[in-house]
Amino acid sequence: MTGNDMNQRVVVVGGGQAGFEVCSKLRSLGMTGPITLIGDESQPPYQRPPLSKAYLLGKMELERLFFRPLQFYQDEKINLRLECACTGIDRNAKSIALSDGSTLGYDTLVLATGASPIRLPDAIGGDLEHVHYVRTLEDADGMADDFQAGRRALIIGGGYIGLEAAAVASGLGMNVTLVEAADRILQRVAAPETSEYFRELHSRHGVDIREGVMLDRLKGEGGVLTGVLLSDGTELGVDVAVVGIGIRPNQALADAAGVDIDNGIKVDTQCRTSDPDIYAIGDCASFSHGNGRIRLESVGNAIDQAQAAAAVIAGGDRPFCAKPWFWSDQYDVKLQIVGLSTGYDRIVTRKTTEDSISFWYFGGDQLLAVDAMNDPRAYMVAKRLIDNGKSADASAVADPDTDLKTLLN
Ligand code: FAD
Repeated sequence: MTGNDMNQRVVVVGGGQAGFEVCSKLRSLGMTGPITLIGDESQPPYQRPPLSKAYLLGKMELERLFFRPLQFYQDEKINLRLECACTGIDRNAKSIALSDGSTLGYDTLVLATGASPIRLPDAIGGDLEHVHYVRTLEDADGMADDFQAGRRALIIGGGYIGLEAAAVASGLGMNVTLVEAADRILQRVAAPETSEYFRELHSRHGVDIREGVMLDRLKGEGGVLTGVLLSDGTELGVDVAVVGIGIRPNQALADAAGVDIDNGIKVDTQCRTSDPDIYAIGDCASFSHGNGRIRLESVGNAIDQAQAAAAVIAGGDRPFCAKPWFWSDQYDVKLQIVGLSTGYDRIVTRKTTEDSISFWYFGGDQLLAVDAMNDPRAYMVAKRLIDNGKSADASAVADPDTDLKTLLN
């Protein structure tokens, strides 16, 4: 099916950010045929970012997590099937198998299966009670029960998920230690300046950050977590552990069906896989960027790809163009990121007040990315520049007296 047939049967596997977005976009573009959204979780599609932020802190109601109430799916004639997993794809018959034993035919299939946290092996304590992973609402509810003042929390991994969990735990009055195997926190995604900023921030809130230290193993008694042994020989008593060491794309369905895989489900500029009737979007999909293929694990990317795929399915020809943006909330700091910093050779710092600081990544004269802490204006200007392929004068950026809006002229 190459689009244009507004009455075709569309089946979407994965009821997360991307799956929800593609279904609603298809309807708003006037698709009239049956749309089915298959999700293996028990809740209607919801936002994940608050699971390691406001929701975990107990400052956000459950209802506010949902993109739309159940009524929306009825009104839009989106057949939402919850607690139902897709277990196989028959590309010749153009049908999928479901966990309830039934099959479902499609004209167009969209894979929006997301990603899963990398787990610690059971042999080093990954299966102990009070060891948590953060991906689903169920995960967050389990963690929230364990996050109690006075308890000792160990956070494994100094990426955004780990740092957000540390901020919440510390905010709730827990004693928090964070271990990062690399030389510095956020090493994979940010410059040393940003790492330094967040190291300081967490230290001020009493979080003990240990970099360049590996986990040797978690220790337990009777299947319950009691402590940790680190690679430098340190032993600590621990009541709760949170593992944030990265995610892997959920690509097994596509792989088993013979769809091309390369660091995720491989898609072209229209979010099509190697099978022209199957699309992939969101965390599970990899696309061409520079000399390689990347996956962007972010809300913005899930929305952009969902909208691009919907436009193509509805007969349009809108190529997907990555416009990366991301955010993180830790204590009273809102970090906003735009662009991809890969290949930068210089950081320009802009500091307007004690609280507002931004780091601008340049590759030669080209602005590549910006990390803005409590500086929405810097973020907004940088986003417009980067989205339009423009750069900025580095000395003007560094001068706190520059009105950033003039950079847009
Ligand atoms: P998901 O939202 O993971 O949805 C995939 C869905 O498919 C899941 O419900 C899964 O159970 C289901 N599924 C998988 N396989 C099957 C199957 N075979 N059958 C049926 N259903 C299946 N991004 C940001 O930009 N900013 C943030 O601050 C931010 N914070 C985050 C905090 C947390 C705790 C987490 C977990 C993520 C955060 N993200 C953030 C990332 C963002 O939430 C993801 O990039 C986004 O959810 C990806 O959407 P998706 O639809 O691809 O995947």
